[in-house]
Amino acid sequence: MKEVKAIVVGAAGRMGARLVHIIQETSLMKLVQAVDRPDHPLIGKDIGEVVGLGKLGIPLENELKKGGDVIINFTNPQASLESTAFAQKSGMAIVIGTTGLSPEQMNRVRELSKSTRCVFAPNMSVGMNVMFRIVQEVARVLGPEYDIEIFEAHHRLKKDSPSGTAAKLGELIAKAIGRDFGKVGVYGRKGMVGERTKEEIGMQVIRAGDIVGEHTVLFGGIGERLEIIHRAHSRDNFARGAIRAALWVVNQPNGLYDMQDVLGLKG
Ligand code: NAD
Repeated sequence: MKEVKAIVVGAAGRMGARLVHIIQETSLMKLVQAVDRPDHPLIGKDIGEVVGLGKLGIPLENELKKGGDVIINFTNPQASLESTAFAQKSGMAIVIGTTGLSPEQMNRVRELSKSTRCVFAPNMSVGMNVMFRIVQEVARVLGPEYDIEIFEAHHRLKKDSPSGTAAKLGELIAKAIGRDFGKVGVYGRKGMVGERTKEEIGMQVIRAGDIVGEHTVLFGGIGERLEIIHRAHSRDNFARGAIRAALWVVNQPNGLYDMQDVLGLKG
């Protein structure tokens, strides 16, 4: 099979560096360009040396060039939009892992995706995307007799709470069983809060040390409980998911896709 030619944008960043490492491990993909912001102090250096792999013969560049099959971008919203416009103009596919795009920026991605192949997913973890799917089914099958609680744990430096992923788990579960998470989500409990209502979905948050990311959905019945847990050991699960998305999207028609599409979990 022909190797897919990949361009990594944000290559000197935390996710970019892991992408460069993992692309080197796979025979299905070949790194053809590494790009970072114009004023990055390491522009011009060999990307292999930048990410601790030794010389690869590919310099870190400050602008995108044609010649790849797919761009993988983990940067910031503005840079992600610029890469999407470049992908659209030059006929390349694109995978965007960047988070924090505004509704207007998402609309622009949607517009460009009419004539580009694009995967956009704020969580590229394969395991987590399977969890998104199965928690909905479990909630439906167990029914209203089971209390639903979500808890997540992250490192001490994380600024937002709960995580976007925990919020998404809550929203997906609530929707699957006909509830509105905006109304039934209960964030922490303290004092004489009274008995738990049947409808509520609890959300508890832990911040400690260097925990990469853990999400648990607990279904508590009488005489048993079922817990579905996802634990991220490193950022590699996101990078591997992005590479899986990139290998998939190059063979798709134009359009905007997410990880559920990539993994065949829709429908
Ligand atoms: P980082 O700050 O370590 O890396 C970002 C890189 O992008 C930096 O090297 C920066 O110089 C570069 N950059 C900035 N502007 C640029 C431009 N105009 N052109 C090219 N490069 C530019 O951050 P990170 O931890 O690697 O995360 C990057 C993004 O990916 C964030 O939005 C983060 O939330 C997101 N993320 C998503 C997932 C997922 O599964 N989708 C997983 C982890 C991180």
